[in-house]
Amino acid sequence: MNISKNDFGRNFHWGVSSAAFQVEGAHDKDGKGESIWDFFSNKKNKVYNGHHARVACDFYIRDYEEILLMKQMNVFNYRFSLSWSRIFPDGIGKVNHKGVEFYNRVIDFCLNEGIEPWITLYHWDLPLALERKGGWTNREIIKWFSEYVSFCIKIFGDRVKHWMILNEPMVFTGAGYFMGIHAPGKKGLSNFLAAAHHAVLCQAEGGRIAKSYNSNLKIGTTFSCSHIEAKTNSIKDRQAQVKIDALLNRMFLEPLLGLNYPVKDLKVLRRIEQFIKDGDDKKMCFNMDFIGVQNYTREIVSFDFFTPFVQAKIVKADKRNVHRTVMNWEVYPSSIYYILKKYAAYKNIPEIIVTESGAAFEDTLIDGNIQDEERKLFIQNHIAEILKAKQEGVKVNGYFVWSFTDNFEWAEGYKPRFGLVYVDFETQQRTIKASGKWYSDFLSG
Ligand code: BGC
Repeated sequence: MNISKNDFGRNFHWGVSSAAFQVEGAHDKDGKGESIWDFFSNKKNKVYNGHHARVACDFYIRDYEEILLMKQMNVFNYRFSLSWSRIFPDGIGKVNHKGVEFYNRVIDFCLNEGIEPWITLYHWDLPLALERKGGWTNREIIKWFSEYVSFCIKIFGDRVKHWMILNEPMVFTGAGYFMGIHAPGKKGLSNFLAAAHHAVLCQAEGGRIAKSYNSNLKIGTTFSCSHIEAKTNSIKDRQAQVKIDALLNRMFLEPLLGLNYPVKDLKVLRRIEQFIKDGDDKKMCFNMDFIGVQNYTREIVSFDFFTPFVQAKIVKADKRNVHRTVMNWEVYPSSIYYILKKYAAYKNIPEIIVTESGAAFEDTLIDGNIQDEERKLFIQNHIAEILKAKQEGVKVNGYFVWSFTDNFEWAEGYKPRFGLVYVDFETQQRTIKASGKWYSDFLSG
């Protein structure tokens, strides 16, 4: 690849991403409370092959080694999340000081090694005690979340500058409260719309709380997004495309920007009105300093009479005979370019950071090496598309690989490996993959 890191300018943030539940393990150590993901992954048939994250990557114990490895690989920005139930075992009320100590230690390790910590406040592991009161479907969540955010910003905000309020609200409300395939395993439109509206309010409220504590903090939030194309040029397929785009790419972003829910293009969203209270229109808005974009693929969409609420369906990659990852996601690097252009067209997004980008491929350890050419190429091609968008004026200013190490991939367990670093989950031994070596060389340039 002829691209160098310098083409992006000196202020571009290069990093790696992870999430508490996917790496930390220590599920009940030092006073940590149970989260919805602890509970869900202990149930039968919820996670691939009965995998669970009780140990995961053992990051709770190996944090320092992991951070040193990052430094050795020239990675100087680390995005990770805080486990709410490690800090507040019951979600609210009593603080677990050991949990706070752990994050203080991680932050200080990072800073001592010259690595900038980027913190996500919520990456899907809601305290179980709060789910028992309705979780995201209960409007009280705004109060609970505010208490948690205020506490974290007060304690860690003296050292951590970059904060992300939520990770991919579409995924945790859609998979967790509509389809029931992620924790807490709830289903149905009503659960989904209630959870979605409360997440929209929390993302803005979280931003306000963080800024009111210290206006110098850089506050953002992240969105899952995919470039959407219609399967054919028929009117029905194109209508399906508009609906799925509104659902996957606009529903959580537009209210934040003061544009309200995209009801015109996705009629079923009218039903969210039952959860909207007077004054919510304003409360949903907040001027973020940056928007985190997390794109993995593109989606091809067609009309489908039988899909309730949207009459549209996604044509899976294996039905299309295209190059795909272990997640059955098409490898389509231009998707990130289109998404960046799309988001850049909104007036009030000052800066975009690609807070996740990566791919799961089969990895084979041969003589202590992993030649993951596909992953390397995937990352190179995505970086090239981002540069193209940047050169065309898009204010994109960061790229974080998902993920630093292989980790617990939610309902898919340990099967899909996304890491730059291979983890042997039996021995916890790390092996830097060819993609990791390449990223490290690229970052040294
Ligand atoms: C999530 C990560 C997840 C990754 C790959 C994103 O949706 O933020 O937690 O592991 O995609 O599926």
